[in-house]
Amino acid sequence: MSTQWNRRDFLRRAAGTAAAAGLAGTGSWAGTQPTPVGDMSRRTLGRTGLQVPVISLGVMNASNPALLRRAWDLGVRHFDTAAYYQRGRNEEMVGEVMQELNARDEVVIATKIYLPPERRHIADEEVRQFFLNSAEESLRRLRMDHVDILYVHNVSDIDYLYRPVVVEVMQALKQAGKARFIGFTTHRGMDPCIAAAAERGGWDVIATAFNYSLGEDKDLLQAMARAHEQGLGLVAMKTQCTQYWYREHLPDYFQRFYQGEILHTAVLKWAVRHPFVTTAIPGCTTFEQLEADVQAGRTLEYTAAEREFLESRNVRAALSYCRQCARCVAGCPAGVQVPTLMRAHLYAVCYGNHDALQAALAEIPPGAGLEACRDCQTCRVTCVRGIPVAERLAELQRIVRV
Ligand code: SF4
Ligand code: SF4
Repeated sequence: MSTQWNRRDFLRRAAGTAAAAGLAGTGSWAGTQPTPVGDMSRRTLGRTGLQVPVISLGVMNASNPALLRRAWDLGVRHFDTAAYYQRGRNEEMVGEVMQELNARDEVVIATKIYLPPERRHIADEEVRQFFLNSAEESLRRLRMDHVDILYVHNVSDIDYLYRPVVVEVMQALKQAGKARFIGFTTHRGMDPCIAAAAERGGWDVIATAFNYSLGEDKDLLQAMARAHEQGLGLVAMKTQCTQYWYREHLPDYFQRFYQGEILHTAVLKWAVRHPFVTTAIPGCTTFEQLEADVQAGRTLEYTAAEREFLESRNVRAALSYCRQCARCVAGCPAGVQVPTLMRAHLYAVCYGNHDALQAALAEIPPGAGLEACRDCQTCRVTCVRGIPVAERLAELQRIVRV
């Protein structure tokens, strides 16, 4: 079976992925010694003690139940969903398939509670009710009396992560047996949140964006290593983000790094070869992607082709992936929320996920979204990493027809 595939056509139809930077470990795989289970190895998710294969399934972009059945057959035992995905339909599909397979006791199920950023100022009692209701609704859709991991979804600042009512209600859900373990997911502002969790505690698991393009981000690497030392379980997401698609937007000089196909197994292995990462949750939409991702989990040794691929492309993706650092925001006189729009662009162009696109756009307060760009003659925003923000904003406007 080929471990390489061209997602470009696929991207045009629907989904996507890809990523970027530095080979993790140049010698043999030296992380947690894998214990073979079927064809895949397992590791322990921090102090939770949960055993999960190195490759899990991010269900976000999947809508075909047969894909989950195939994942089960291939040895995937951790399924990551969210109330937010497909407005609950994603959880329903996970629940239906797990029941049909009679697999509940053999899988680790994670879901998430998503309070949109624009509502995070609401009163404590409203937050509490929102979390309790969301958890109950998720369990109903999943047909389960508990999940293994319950995340606070999309955390990018410490104030929200440690807002007392958020910590209290998550702890209460854990104590009530609705979730065996609690954690948070983070797509931007990752390292401060991860570092805070490592020092202040209160959380069991962190699902963080982590990919090849972040390989030189020392703050993030240190925060992840520290969290791992403190017993937190680390799950990697967005492991294969987008570089294939974006390469054509890069300056000519960089085009040479983008010749040939993306070897997705290489960037996936790069992420899970880090000893502090327990498992990755790549999002699959096709059987071909799923098979390739699982194949990567069967041996973490790079093949010669994967090694050559990574070594030949150390430069390029540093410019392709929006790290959500928000350093560009001050450049826009209208205060447009560029990082969120870049994430919306990722969902639209790379994942082909209409629901996620709309949800990201809905997070933006009136006046700070694409409508502000419509009559703007010249975009003044400059990305510190060279991402062509104006081009992506224009592309996004064409997609959503603002
Ligand atoms: S196009 Fe104009 S309004 Fe939109 S982000 Fe750029 S500077 Fe701001
Ligand atoms: S566009 Fe660039 S500066 Fe703005 S958030 Fe993304 S990576 Fe940071």
